[in-house]
Amino acid sequence: MQKYQHFEPLKVFLEICAIPHASFKTEKLKEWIIQEARKANATIQCDKVGNVLCSKGKPKLCLQGHYDMVYVGDSAAFEVKPKFVKSGNQAILCAENSSLGADNGAALASMIVALRKSRNIECLFTIDEEVGMLGAREIALSLQSPYMLNCDSEEIDEVVVSCAGGYDLECKAELETFEIPQDCDFLEIRTQGFRGGHSGIEIHKNISNAILELAKIAKSLVECGALVVKFCGGEKRNSIPTNALLQVAIPRDKSKLYQESLEKISTIKLEDSACFEVVKVSLQNARYFNPNALLQALLGVQNGVIVSSQNAPILSSNVGILQQTDEAGKIQVSFVAMGRSNQESLMQENIKKETKKLEALGFCVDLIDVYAPWEREESALLNTVWEIVSKQNPRAELKSIHAGLECGILKQKYPSMRFVSVGPSISHPHSLNEQLDLESFVRFDEILQSVLERFQAF
Ligand SMILES: [Zn+2]
Repeated sequence: MQKYQHFEPLKVFLEICAIPHASFKTEKLKEWIIQEARKANATIQCDKVGNVLCSKGKPKLCLQGHYDMVYVGDSAAFEVKPKFVKSGNQAILCAENSSLGADNGAALASMIVALRKSRNIECLFTIDEEVGMLGAREIALSLQSPYMLNCDSEEIDEVVVSCAGGYDLECKAELETFEIPQDCDFLEIRTQGFRGGHSGIEIHKNISNAILELAKIAKSLVECGALVVKFCGGEKRNSIPTNALLQVAIPRDKSKLYQESLEKISTIKLEDSACFEVVKVSLQNARYFNPNALLQALLGVQNGVIVSSQNAPILSSNVGILQQTDEAGKIQVSFVAMGRSNQESLMQENIKKETKKLEALGFCVDLIDVYAPWEREESALLNTVWEIVSKQNPRAELKSIHAGLECGILKQKYPSMRFVSVGPSISHPHSLNEQLDLESFVRFDEILQSVLERFQAF
């Protein structure tokens, strides 16, 4: 790792690792950024939400990164202990028992170094990107540069030129409950081995959706006379669900059905080796509800890739959360279908279509957290970045990603600005296995230097 000993951005990144900056707890890193910007003689502007803009001279280019990280770790308090490892001839930085925060800390380090060296530059540090891009959504800063280079991509050989917009359709219905007849057996069916995944980046991989696969089972049980007591599942609205649970009551006079169901369900194996576990349970004071509208909605709402172009998804949807709350003889069922699209018109069309369909089934549909896609646009910045990156690696690619980047939101706030996104190679971000490829970090820094030079930063 000697090779990297004198690489300035790495030194700065190791400094950042020691400062707490989990999302919503970024105060310490904010203070550090301001202090570093002062030392670099930059002018500093902060807005109410906590975005920080540092500028010098007459900038033509703004570098942008987020200063919060997804902290996953064994220790409850923030503790990131970076560790160098070698894998083949690849030099990697990871962390002992926590996420590393190279997303977006590595880029922040390069931005701080660039701020020190440049005469004309803007560096925008946004807050709480990882928890719904809150900083970008509420930004209230005046930028001077006509171009912005977002530094939050995760693959050095890709220049990102477009990202998806998104929305959540929150669907709710209130249902009546009924007393369960005497002489029923109760079954609980749980999902097992569903692997889940990112609802945008991995939506094209045909990963089984735990909620929807269990909804198919619920439907076949209901058709045979089972009574649905509880149905819920999912972890996050923006991930493909790995867990779901269904509780049903089966009248004893249908005990043949009971046996058959047990056998049938336990032999179901989905393509990706996900399966179901059936257990007999006893439920006190349970009530049942008519699940037909819910099942029709879940099985009728679009899920997975809806439209693709050149083998990449450009419109998709993911049913991520299904909840049930019981109150005074009524239950409320709700689920969230999160849609993404790289084309604004496709997205708007789909919102209308899906809302109409769900409302017709008696659901109250709320459209929330809408943000526009960032569509590809030609610009002097794109030409320059592409020239530099493709010279560094002739196999590099221009890429549209089917996930959100702050560019989408910032483009709405600064419509005349032109954007491009790059970043060092980071694998498994947001997890204990997060890894930063050090060679790509050096290459990323070289790209920044060259772009800054072309935009008269020095
Ligand atoms: Zn990030």
